[in-house]
Amino acid sequence: MGIDKVAVIGAGTMGAGIAQVCAQAGWNTTLYDAFPEGLEKGMQRVDAFWDKGIARGKTTVEQKQEWSKNLHAESNLENAVKDCDLIIEAVPEILELKQQIFQEVEQYANQNAVFATNTSSLSIGKIAGAINRPERLIGMHFFNPVPIMKLLELVRHDKTSNETVNVAEEAGLVMQKTTILVNDVPGFATSRLGVVLGNEAIRMLADGVASAKDIDTAMVLGYKHPMGPLALTDLVGLDVRRDILRNLQDSFDDDAYAPHPLLEKLVEKNRLGKKTGMGIYDWSSGQAEETEMPDF
Ligand code: NAD
Repeated sequence: MGIDKVAVIGAGTMGAGIAQVCAQAGWNTTLYDAFPEGLEKGMQRVDAFWDKGIARGKTTVEQKQEWSKNLHAESNLENAVKDCDLIIEAVPEILELKQQIFQEVEQYANQNAVFATNTSSLSIGKIAGAINRPERLIGMHFFNPVPIMKLLELVRHDKTSNETVNVAEEAGLVMQKTTILVNDVPGFATSRLGVVLGNEAIRMLADGVASAKDIDTAMVLGYKHPMGPLALTDLVGLDVRRDILRNLQDSFDDDAYAPHPLLEKLVEKNRLGKKTGMGIYDWSSGQAEETEMPDF
């Protein structure tokens, strides 16, 4: 099945980026949000990204005009999804919200349309369980910032059809992403490995193995990671990582995934990372600076 028309539901950080790469892929792309200001902000974000690309000489005004023609804002869900071949959802991480949206989308969408969710931690099978044709739903886990990050983690649940997987793989190729195919297990492949590494790095910091910077440098220079696990935890958000760990701990019934007490304490103190100015590092200068750890 070829893809011509795509809808992206939710115009936030991820939805705007996904709509951007869809427009760049040459598809007729509609961006929808339930809130007018969300939609406006999403469209502005894409526009600003393209303008920055022009200013840096990475793209041209003509190219931006071509891409812009492919991207449309829409505030009515039915109009957004009708006749689409692929519908990608990127609304907040709430199971019931995603289920309800796909139920509604299913009423308006083509019989053959593929449904994709950008959830980073929810069960794809549970989301698909809310619709009549679960075989056409798949996880399409993009990474932030979407136009730059190369990975697209495809997550199939036990009823996802091979045809749906094929369409998602083909879409990933056209969006110039490298796809990996993962089964629907908590944390998929990326989040599970990422949070375990981050949690262990926090345990090492708490145990006094080395300073935060030296632990990060160990992975940057020793293992060629582009960023250390502690700095990355600060960028993702300590609360986000704590929640994923708790989810893994519950799902696998295994305390190996329990958030380290220092992580819990930092979240309790609202040291959530770069977004609050303080996490494992102090970000008030704009750079990661070493700072005291609280007692835990
Ligand atoms: P966000 O808060 O930036 O954006 C969510 C958007 O959804 C907002 O514009 C909001 O107005 C809109 N929205 C809320 N309710 C809606 C509804 N009923 N219908 C349509 N739109 C609605 O969130 P985000 O960071 O873009 O995350 C979206 C999804 O992507 C989540 O499932 C998240 O787990 C996942 N994800 C996020 C990241 C990340 O780094 N931010 C990475 C991978 C996956």
